[in-house]
Amino acid sequence: MSDDCIFCKIIAGKIPCAKVYDQGGIFAFLDIAPVNKGHALVVSRTHYATLFDLPPDLGRELLAALKSVGRAVMQATGATGLNMGMNNFEVAGQLVHHAHFHLVPRHEGDGLRLWTQHAYESGEEMQKLAQAVRTAIG
Ligand code: 5GP
Ligand code: ZN
Repeated sequence: MSDDCIFCKIIAGKIPCAKVYDQGGIFAFLDIAPVNKGHALVVSRTHYATLFDLPPDLGRELLAALKSVGRAVMQATGATGLNMGMNNFEVAGQLVHHAHFHLVPRHEGDGLRLWTQHAYESGEEMQKLAQAVRTAIG
């Protein structure tokens, strides 16, 4: 529990929320400002700041929760698609520093566009970058 974390306060029941899932180490609730209605946030009960702080052991439980909540959000809203997104660090739009996965139900013609895509200067530039990533992975 981080004292200055709004999501820790929600999980602890100190701030009300529209809870949708509470099993084991995972908690989920509806986002107060939804991209589309039913937009849910899936979080670890334990405070971790970003994706990179989440313990790999949480993976199985987390994936099960994402699938369960995602499926249920689609069913409850009549959505025919679902986006999952995660903002890590402020430059990527992370406002709440308690790692969380956004599940956004999608409807035909809802007009939401998530990514603006670009081109590489050349295939060589792309291959060099791939090499740099492989090197960083080690
Ligand atoms: P971020 O930009 O950090 O990825 O997303 C934070 C999300 O938390 C936002 O979509 C915002 O609407 C949501 N949020 C912030 N404060 C509260 C709150 O008090 N209750 C709920 N339910 N959602 C919140
Ligand atoms: Zn927290």
